[in-house]
Amino acid sequence: MIDSLEAQFAIAAVREAARLTRRVQREMVTPALVKGDKSPVTVADFTAQAIVAKRLAEAFPDAKLVGEEDASDLTATDEGRSTLAQIQHFLESAAPGATAEEVCQWIDRGNDPAEGTFWTLDPVDGTKGFLRGDQYAVALALIDNGRVELGVLGCPELTGAATPKAGGPGSVLVAARGQGTWVSSTEPLDEQWTELHVAPTSDVAQTRIFRSVESAHTNTGQLGQLATAMGVEADPIPMDSQAKYAVLAAGGGEMLVRLLSAKRLDYREKIWDQAAGSIVVEEAGGRVTDLDGKPLDFSHGTSLAANRGVLGTNGKVHDAALEALRAIGA
Ligand code: AMP
Ligand code: MG
Repeated sequence: MIDSLEAQFAIAAVREAARLTRRVQREMVTPALVKGDKSPVTVADFTAQAIVAKRLAEAFPDAKLVGEEDASDLTATDEGRSTLAQIQHFLESAAPGATAEEVCQWIDRGNDPAEGTFWTLDPVDGTKGFLRGDQYAVALALIDNGRVELGVLGCPELTGAATPKAGGPGSVLVAARGQGTWVSSTEPLDEQWTELHVAPTSDVAQTRIFRSVESAHTNTGQLGQLATAMGVEADPIPMDSQAKYAVLAAGGGEMLVRLLSAKRLDYREKIWDQAAGSIVVEEAGGRVTDLDGKPLDFSHGTSLAANRGVLGTNGKVHDAALEALRAIGA
């Protein structure tokens, strides 16, 4: 297992954040929730970022953090202040007596510049999945001069990643450069870790392909063409968040692809959406590039400005997938 101080911190912080988000999910996402009301995910997002930032400050006071959220909206309006009170409520068990000001300070620790050596956090990746009761992930990674060195994914609704089912104790995955990818549960003291390996399948026609649930985050028409060009008959499997990367690392599929939406051809991936997931797949023996076969380059601030989309595979089907992407002009 990976036992650096950085890994120990990241695993404990992601587990704590994952359990808090699950509590928010269970207490706030009710059948009566008005469609379009995003308040539970807002509360979960800020609560998770606050606790990870607080734990980082305790473990490594000088470390930099680039988080998806910032606290400015929480103090500007009545709605923001009521959200802040809910965040304080959920943080009470982890940080008893924390004031609103302290909570905002922790959240805003995530405003560092994305350069040199820094951590990046997506406190709730897959917000739509969170609201639907499907997959979502807490994703934390350490980037050093453009390269991901460590990644931790907490997937509260993913149990048994190779044959995923919802519920149960959830999964936490950790990967460090050169040290493999390992899985355990989100339980705080669970010391049982299992090393993960991608599926050995090299028969391209049998490729199990993962896609985003949200059609706005991919190109469903092109996805069909891509599958056909690869000789794959099975429909792509929809799944929210970086849980896709966890399942790929565990051998529950052979490929995930983020095609560019026809409406957003200029979209560039955010570093916190790809950093932890990509190292989790690579260290399990897989391969991750963009749609042109270029390695993901984390040296351009908060976006992968030099890359288009993402292709992650078990390695065996990667070249065939790149060839198919070229053939369909994706
Ligand atoms: P998924 O769960 O696969 O749908 O991916 C969720 C992530 O997609 C979110 O964290 C967003 O940052 C990201 N996203 C937002 N807009 C787009 C877009 N137009 N294309 C691709 N990804 C996007
Ligand atoms: Mg995200």
